[in-house]
Amino acid sequence: MQAVQYRSPGSAPEVVTVPDPEPGPGQVLLKVAAAGVCHSDIAVMGMPADQLGFPLPLTLGHEGAGTVAALGAGVEGVELGAMMAVYGPWGCGRCSMCAKGVENYCLHAKELGIFPPGLGAPGAMAEYLIVDDPRHLVPLGDLDPVQNVSLTDAGLTPYHAISLSLPKLVPGSTCVVIGAGGLGHVAIQLLRAMTATRIIALDLSEERLELARRVGAHDTVISDAAAVDRIRALTDGDGAQVILDFVGAPPTTATAAAAAGVAADITVVGLGGGTVEVGFGSLPYETTVCSPYWGTRSELIEVLDIARQGEVSVHVETFSLDEAPLAYERLHAGEITGRAVIVP
Ligand code: NAD
Ligand code: ZN
Repeated sequence: MQAVQYRSPGSAPEVVTVPDPEPGPGQVLLKVAAAGVCHSDIAVMGMPADQLGFPLPLTLGHEGAGTVAALGAGVEGVELGAMMAVYGPWGCGRCSMCAKGVENYCLHAKELGIFPPGLGAPGAMAEYLIVDDPRHLVPLGDLDPVQNVSLTDAGLTPYHAISLSLPKLVPGSTCVVIGAGGLGHVAIQLLRAMTATRIIALDLSEERLELARRVGAHDTVISDAAAVDRIRALTDGDGAQVILDFVGAPPTTATAAAAAGVAADITVVGLGGGTVEVGFGSLPYETTVCSPYWGTRSELIEVLDIARQGEVSVHVETFSLDEAPLAYERLHAGEITGRAVIVP
């Protein structure tokens, strides 16, 4: 079959032919219908080989959806032909975190060599995908796989981040969303669906801010040195109660810290290498800083339910499998608005 692989450190992704996979005991084979292109892949492809933690080549794609094509020995309760979304942060299934469905924080995945598809295990950017366990599948039902595949990460990750701060996202509060890209433009819609907070979106270009307004941001601000003053002005000097940073680079974590109000939540989702200093005097009293990773199995079910109610829709640009390297180039150059999705 055809697959999009990251083959050697520092190289661009390539479309190659690999053997057709067959599901082992307990596994499920999906015929891939769609695979999302995430900026995290670019971060991974920029890491030195010794920091990767898994061998190359790697078939990319940690946002996946497809139909059940074959079942490994012993798999029950999954119907051939059913359209499924893949829950990506695979865990051991046995530790206390996995028992709660919080497989994204599995206590043993690393030592057991368990990796998410596309981030260590063979990913969804191929004609077929092996899913290690049927519990990592959520039925898509009537939801279109191409339109909704990115909810498995670009939806689930913001949903988890927002859920952590729900008590602070009361009417009258302000939430700053930094980076209205793949994750950010879904985060804005989820905030509208889940809360009554007022949303101020930041990005680098007027085109991105236009998308932010279209999907529900109340105010938009160009992300430059004057952004903090604009946020302060829009909040009567108080600052924001919640800041979701979907860039996480030094300039944006600095903006996040400076835009925080008293007892705010600063949530750094982006992998841009920025940090926030904590300690008396460096942030307003009782401000919390956290860096969450992906989301839980039950949260993915909830995100898909929100999509079924029509309250979140991903702005999708589609590419064929052959065009996947181009999709990564375009994402790297800041030329994708919303989410790029590969349709094999
Ligand atoms: P993306 O490229 O689609 O979106 C990033 C957006 O940020 C773009 O619109 C870009 O214009 C904007 N941006 C860049 N620099 C900016 C700045 N200085 N100020 C304001 N906006 C700026 O990327 P994505 O796929 O949405 O991913 C966003 C980040 O989240 C990446 O760092 C990715 O690795 C990370 N991520 C983290 C998790 C997690 O679990 N923590 C999960 C998925 C993605
Ligand atoms: Zn991702």
